[in-house]
Amino acid sequence: MNDDNAPAANAERNERIANRSRAANWKKPPRRIETSECITCDSCLRSCPEEFGAIFDRGLDVVIVPELCSGCPVCVLECPVDCIYVDEDWAPTDESMWSHIEVTPVSAP
Ligand code: SF4
Ligand code: SF4
Repeated sequence: MNDDNAPAANAERNERIANRSRAANWKKPPRRIETSECITCDSCLRSCPEEFGAIFDRGLDVVIVPELCSGCPVCVLECPVDCIYVDEDWAPTDESMWSHIEVTPVSAP
């Protein structure tokens, strides 16, 4: 992503957090991490573009928040054990999880 677009992209992510919803123009389904196969290496988390920021390490597991995941799928290419799958039947994220998700600063430095 061009850095000039970063504030707008971050604002859009914040909107998705506020609305608890995916972008209407995303055509791909989100991804999900199969916890039983994941080795919690965080490679996916580091690779998820900032404009999406959809992956979170909760200590005991690493999860993708489907409302923030565009299905791009950069993380899939980074996972050493191939445990990130398409999630056609994704369920809305629990409110308890949303309370841990921080918005991205939108102003340029
Ligand atoms: S598919 Fe893309 S947006 Fe979704 S979690 Fe992976 S890197 Fe992030
Ligand atoms: S890259 Fe794969 S193994 Fe590593 S934390 Fe992500 S899902 Fe788990």
